[in-house]
This record gives sequence, C-alpha cells and structure tokens, in this order.
Amino acid sequence: MRDGVVRLKGKGLYKVVPGRPERFKAYRVQHNQARGPYKGGTRYHQDVSLDLFKVLAAEMTWKTAIADVPFGGGKGGIKVDPKTLSSEELEALTLRYMYRLKPLIGPDLDIPAPDVGTDGTIMGLLLRQYTDGERERHKLRGVVTGKDTRIGGSEGRVRATGQGLAYCIQEWFAERGATPAGSTFILQGFGNVGSNAAEILSGLGARLLAVNDSGGTIFNPAGIDVNDLVSYVYDNPRNLRRTVGGYPKAQQISKTDLFDIEADICIPAALGGEITGPVAERLKCKLVAEGANDPTTPEGDRVMAKRGIELIPDIIGNAGGVTVSYYEWIQNKRMEHWSETEVNGRLEQAIKSNYRIIRDIARNMPRRTATHNSSRYTIGKEIDMRTAAMVLALKRIEAHYQLEGFSQ
Ligand code: NAD
Repeated sequence: MRDGVVRLKGKGLYKVVPGRPERFKAYRVQHNQARGPYKGGTRYHQDVSLDLFKVLAAEMTWKTAIADVPFGGGKGGIKVDPKTLSSEELEALTLRYMYRLKPLIGPDLDIPAPDVGTDGTIMGLLLRQYTDGERERHKLRGVVTGKDTRIGGSEGRVRATGQGLAYCIQEWFAERGATPAGSTFILQGFGNVGSNAAEILSGLGARLLAVNDSGGTIFNPAGIDVNDLVSYVYDNPRNLRRTVGGYPKAQQISKTDLFDIEADICIPAALGGEITGPVAERLKCKLVAEGANDPTTPEGDRVMAKRGIELIPDIIGNAGGVTVSYYEWIQNKRMEHWSETEVNGRLEQAIKSNYRIIRDIARNMPRRTATHNSSRYTIGKEIDMRTAAMVLALKRIEAHYQLEGFSQ
C-alpha cells in the first residue's frame, strides 16, 4: 500500500479512504414459502441483478421441492467483486447486509447459505450479526446454513453436492444392473462440485479421462489419478489459480477437444450454458450428469434427446447441497451433531429415492416400492427427465396450495 492506494494482482488499483462510506446494491428475493421457510444462497458478485436473483430464487423453490426438504425458495446477495475488498471491508459489508436484512430473515422464515463469492466464514458473520444482542442465541443457529462445523455446520456439507451427483450416477448404473466400476468420465470444472464428484466416482472404480477448467484442459486416455490431481490443484502453493492446467501426468489439449473424447459419462460442473447444440452434436458419451446449474441450453437438450444421450438434470443432480443444508438446520434445531456416516446415509436414501421418482415420471411407470412411491406423480405419458423433475416439483408444491389452502 502506498498513499492509501492498494495494488491488486492484475486488477489495477483502488483507493482506501478510511471511514468513507460507500454504497452497494444488496438484494434478497423471497420467491415461495408454500413448503417452508425461504431457502437459498447469498452471492457476492459484480454481475448480479434483481432479475438474476428472481430466477435463482425460483430455481431454489423447484430444487427444495425435488429434494423434498421442507423449504421454499429464496436467493440474495450484494453487487460487489469480493476479491477487490480487504477482509475487514468484507466483514463490515456482510455485517451491514444482515443488519438491514434481519427483519426479513429467520430460522423459520428465510435461511441464507453460501453461494458464489461467499463461504462458511461469511455465514459465521451473518450469524453473528443476526444473533447480536439476542439472549437465546443458540436457538437461532439455523438462520444460516453452510457454517463451520465448529459452530453448528454439518459434517458432509462441503462434499454434499458432489456426493449427491455420485449417488444419482450410481442409481443410473443400478437401473442397468451395473455399477460405475470400470466406466469412464470426462469433467468440466474441478472446483467444489467437480473435484468431489471425481474423487467419489474414482473411489467407486470409474476412470477420469479428461478435465477442463478455467485454466486449461488435460487428457490421459489411461486415466487420471484423481487424488494426485487434487493435490496438484489444491495443495500446491505455486498453483495460484487452482487449475488443472499444466498437470504434468496428462496431455494438454484444447477446451473444444474435451467434448470429442469418448467416455460413458460427461459431467459439466462449471458454468451455465456450456452444452450448446453444437457441443451436444459432438458428445461421445451415453449420459450427461449435470453438476452445474443450467449447463445445457434448450438446443443442447433437443440435440441430446435426438441422439439418445441420457440426462441427469441439474435440479436433482446437484440437490445434495441443499439436502445437507436441511440436515444442518435440523441438527441446529435439535442441538445435535451427526457423524458424516449418518449424514451420507440419509443423503443417499433421499437422493436415490427422489431420482427414482423422477425416472418413473419420465417413463410413465407409477410404482410403490419399499424405497419410493411415484404413483402420485406420473402424468399418463412419457416425458424427458428435465420435464419430469419439474412435474415432481410442481406437484409437491401444488399439494400445499390444494390441501393446506396455502395462498400468497
Ligand atoms: P467452484 O468455484 O468451486 O468451481 C468452479 C470450477 O469451474 C472451477 O474449477 C473453475 O476453474 C471452473 N470454471 C470457471 N470458469 C470456467 C470456464 N469458463 N470454463 C471451464 N471451467 C470454468 O464452484 P462449485 O461450487 O464447484 O460450483 C460449480 C457449479 O455447480 C456452479 O454452476 C454452481 O452454481 C453449481 N452448484 C454448486 C453447488 C455447491 O454446493 N457448491 C450446489 C449446487 C450447484
């Protein structure tokens, strides 16, 4: 720092004027609470808008219904690039955000969680501000999820989304009387969702052939050692961008080549809109298992359907995170702390039974088994998996309007 000017790596300069106030646009959208308290992440990003939060809040309404957790949908955040703020500034901004939000938020009203640009530390700050001055603070811990495990966060939350995706993939194989062992997959995104899904799948005997992320694309036809790649990306202090690019035990290829690689499964776990029509035309896989939100465009969907490529839609594929958020909320209410084994046992049962219901809706095969009951949800004709997931969401929400007389 010189003359109150901070030099940021590759991001130019910004001026610190101690004590000078600055305004930021902050949002919280509450979309639907027919099934329970509003639930959804808090995003700190420079490109957010009210319209974006409305879309994301609605998606949470569908996702909580599909995961069958007793929550509705919400989303919010601040228009700011958190990387341009010092930790003190970020703390001040976060505390102020909750100060203004407090009347609208609560463990039984609206429950934020981490999203892009926020993490467990930010959740701790939101909790601190929310409980400030309260005499029975411990009763309010469930006001945010995604907390550090030492202050009421759940075991298994960090891996939950990748774990949920792996359970869906296991179920997809189980329908065919098989397991992921011996199968191959390609992956886009090696962050929280992608790296955890890859670790779990490789533990089940699947072979990772190629990965693309924001810093490069790597390919090894003999298979990539996922644990070794995790160390290269996350434990290597020189890998500042946390990228798979430059990984020495694989060929460096171009991003466009990724989707030409023949594999059983393609897992998009990075950004939205990556599987476009032309990309879907090139895919040489049997299954696209969506970890990212909205990775496939409508044209991509049409091409995949035409080519007979199967789909695990995002809304169930990445529902593991919100499911374990619900477990965190229950643990907070009951003042309990469950083991990771207990969390994963419940998660597996929940994800697999909801996946089976969606599959039965898609095939128009109403069934009542020991693990799931799809008889209420089929609609008398076969539909694609993405539509089937929406049917499940809307029917579960509809029940509250019809039977409970919910109106809002
Ligand atoms: P993350 O920030 O941990 O990782 C993102 C990954 O995407 C990184 O490997 C990054 O390099 C890569 N990436 C970014 N831009 C890219 C580009 N242009 N091309 C290729 N790769 C690129 O994020 P995450 O938490 O793993 O989330 C990934 C996706 O999953 C997002 O769509 C997110 O909304 C969705 N999701 C995450 C969770 C969760 O619990 N983390 C839950 C539900 C949905």
